[in-house]
Amino acid sequence: MIAAPIRLLCDLIATPSVNPAFLPEGDPRTGEHRMAEHVQSAARAAGLEVATETVSGQRSNVLVRLSPPGKIQHRILLGPHLDTVGFPNLESQLVPKIRDSRVYGRGACDTKGCVASMLSALLRVARSGPRPAHTEIQFIGFVDEENEQLGSRHHAAHHDPVDLAIVGEPTRLQVVTAHKGDVWLRLRTTGRSAHGATPHLGRNAVHRMGRVVDLLETTYRKQLSRRSHPLLGSPTINVGAIRGGTQPNIVPDACTIDVDRRTLPGESEATVRRELRDLLRRAGVQAAFEPLRLAPCDPLETDPDLVWVQRLCRAAGRRRTVGVHFFCDAAPLAKAGTPSVVFGPGDIAQAHTADEWISIASLERGTDILERFLRMLP
Ligand SMILES: [Zn+2]
Repeated sequence: MIAAPIRLLCDLIATPSVNPAFLPEGDPRTGEHRMAEHVQSAARAAGLEVATETVSGQRSNVLVRLSPPGKIQHRILLGPHLDTVGFPNLESQLVPKIRDSRVYGRGACDTKGCVASMLSALLRVARSGPRPAHTEIQFIGFVDEENEQLGSRHHAAHHDPVDLAIVGEPTRLQVVTAHKGDVWLRLRTTGRSAHGATPHLGRNAVHRMGRVVDLLETTYRKQLSRRSHPLLGSPTINVGAIRGGTQPNIVPDACTIDVDRRTLPGESEATVRRELRDLLRRAGVQAAFEPLRLAPCDPLETDPDLVWVQRLCRAAGRRRTVGVHFFCDAAPLAKAGTPSVVFGPGDIAQAHTADEWISIASLERGTDILERFLRMLP
């Protein structure tokens, strides 16, 4: 018998899949492999094709495929991630609990609820009733969304684009076509050290940085607030960390800050660096830039009028699409050419919290919507 999404979700919560970035090396609760095995055995039991795709070391995306009876003319992808964060109070969160019409546990809403919904919908379609004549449906459980999105980046680099990717994240069953990007930068000012008793013989890097911080948090912030995107609002800047100097009696010769700049569609790390350089040059302040991330976290903007997006909106009973403030696997897939949206049961407000939960109504409704959507594909 095919597990209902709630039963499946409880099994998945009890299957730890903490991203290795969040626990000490070798902790037995890390890694996505147990989740992948669970997905595979549920899919195999329904007669679906199953494969894995090695991303790095022991970490593999899991792929489930439902082929159409006719010639494949289209492909769509359901793509939730398999990993979770690891804190707080992980042990108690690995025990699923059903209470007040909710399922509690680590990953309940982010994003094992989506895994359960998407897989259950696919299994229902595979099992009986109308199915698409010419559209191949792929379910891909991605590894590492919570850290560097290695799974979706790897997949996007090794496969041709498909007609639509629905990335599973808790969106309260709204269809998300836009999210901001995220640029992290380190800025460094340099000076000349001197004895604290003769500061005029040195050049104070912390003082220089003080001016940079002030410019970013006042002038630049105001500049950003004048830009606006219909679904995303304004871009933002946050100076999140500062380091400089060693002790009171030495003039500091270096200071760094780490900055988080949330970008709108059309902005990139290159455009952000350019405008920051201009800003500092106009103010007569010098700072060097260093990247803090290896892979870019680009903004997402998918055309809501695409026929595939419209089909999902219709199935979900939504007139319009929305934007969200969180980054996910949709952007790497979209960058490689697959129109991508984000959709799933649950509310991001409960993600990563100490008592993470998802409402059973949302989980069931999400499964129904996805089933309806899959059955209406050509
Ligand atoms: Zn997530």
